[in-house]
Amino acid sequence: MAHENGSNGVGQLDAGASKPNPVLTLNNGRPVGDNQNSLTAGRRGPVLMEDYLLFEKMAQFNRERVPERVVHAKGSGAYGRFKVTHDISKYTSAQLFSKVGNTCETFARFSTVGGEKGSADTARDPRGFAVKFYTEEGNWDMTGNNTPIFFVRDPVKFGDFIHTQKREPQTNLKSATMMWDFWSLSPESLHQVTILFSDRGIPDGYRFMNGYGSHTFSLINDQNELVYVKWHFKPKQGTRNLSPRRAEELAGSDPDYAQRDLFHAIEKGDYPQWTVYIQVMGEDQARNYRKFNPFDLTKVWPHGEFPLIEVGELELNRNPLNYFAEVEQAAFNPVNVVPGMGFSPDKMLQARLVSYPDAHRYRIGTNYETLPVNAAKCPVMNYNRDGAMRFDGNMGAAPNYEPNSFGGPKQDERFLDRPIPLSGEPAARYNHRDDNDDYTQAGDLFRLMSEEQKNLLCHNIAQSLGQTPIRIQELQLTHFEKADPDYAKRVQKFLVESEHPDLAHSPNEAEFATRLPEK
Ligand code: NDP
Repeated sequence: MAHENGSNGVGQLDAGASKPNPVLTLNNGRPVGDNQNSLTAGRRGPVLMEDYLLFEKMAQFNRERVPERVVHAKGSGAYGRFKVTHDISKYTSAQLFSKVGNTCETFARFSTVGGEKGSADTARDPRGFAVKFYTEEGNWDMTGNNTPIFFVRDPVKFGDFIHTQKREPQTNLKSATMMWDFWSLSPESLHQVTILFSDRGIPDGYRFMNGYGSHTFSLINDQNELVYVKWHFKPKQGTRNLSPRRAEELAGSDPDYAQRDLFHAIEKGDYPQWTVYIQVMGEDQARNYRKFNPFDLTKVWPHGEFPLIEVGELELNRNPLNYFAEVEQAAFNPVNVVPGMGFSPDKMLQARLVSYPDAHRYRIGTNYETLPVNAAKCPVMNYNRDGAMRFDGNMGAAPNYEPNSFGGPKQDERFLDRPIPLSGEPAARYNHRDDNDDYTQAGDLFRLMSEEQKNLLCHNIAQSLGQTPIRIQELQLTHFEKADPDYAKRVQKFLVESEHPDLAHSPNEAEFATRLPEK
């Protein structure tokens, strides 16, 4: 199919067209004499068991897929460069930030969240915004999204939430009812729901969207002083979104729209760039902050109070040569920080620190960090050994235990973890909904929108919410009302006006009830 930007999907294949063909071989290097015909007993006869070529090809083919990412399955990636443009060395001892002008190579992967690997790039869905910085002190991974916040603040709810974005158990269809049932019973989602259904809910490809580290991280300077930070990436190209109608058309005519757009922009030399900023909150300031919990992933830090501080510039300027090797096998991990950086008490971040490497080990194996796209570009020296697909030499003859007297790598006190201050509260399952304001920031976002944006938001919501049982609509309206009465009024107006789309796609209440397992 021909596309507007002239892509035929061939990439660099053409480059080989004029070269002499090398001899085809098996995986063991043995040259192949015939790759067109199976080895059969006679012209019409069955295939012989000893057709090594056929069986090697089939066996390899059967194993081509690694498990799909459970979230962020559909994505695009590119290499680039990060450059430090402003001095933040008073906040961090990270070598990367030691001098204005420092640079490092990067690899970024963008994605949708809920859809499968073959789903449309233009879905209304947050976008993953993950950047790997190959620094001289190890890889620093920013595993963010195009939104500064998230739907839930307690990680124990993450899997439940994601189930609502996937397929309904019986029909195997996406279900507005599941989504709104969860959201209406989880008011902390309202802020993110407001972003999701706003004009920014469907970015125009990956080049025209903001990126956010979303969680609160920390930076630590050479005096061992800590500040908390939020990371922001703003596209120099500006932000651009797709209308729901255009997104729907593209989902049919060009479901790989964002992949095509990113790949061809880079191929043409039209390199996307983002300005990188931080917001900073002092350690004591965070401890004494009363307006909201600064480690709550459903909250932003208002710019008025925590202004953006410019840090650097990210540019993407090189396409991967092989999608599977470099994009599908790319594995980002928020636990990957470098000296001079750290985490925060954000519960969601704490859970991701465990969950991400766990997911990678399941999906692409124990040694996923030795894959070229994931490997650090500085020396990696430790006593971790063996495991499936260890193909990098496995540290050769070097000692595999510590302490040893054979010159193996040793700890260095300069890199000791900064002690983490703890308060005296007992460990317990604290209700994350106690003392939490789920409404003010959602209302703030609504109020900063233009008339047109407000109407678009409320229309988009009504289109989706209108497919759900009335009692779910009513409960959700109480949340809009608490954020801003005008928000609820507009959604209600569009709900009344909307010609309820075909409910067959979304199980109604009665249907759900009949599916509950019998006690
Ligand atoms: P400001 O007026 O200083 O900034 C408003 C922010 O909202 C800008 O970052 C803007 O992004 C962003 N924005 C505008 N439209 C949308 C949209 N449809 N979806 C998501 N973001 C949008 O406000 P405050 O910092 O005081 O925050 C007010 C509200 O703005 C918050 O409650 C939050 O909902 C939203 N917001 C705040 C952010 C923050 O880090 N403080 C970040 C993103 C959103 P841009 O600059 O690209 O236009």
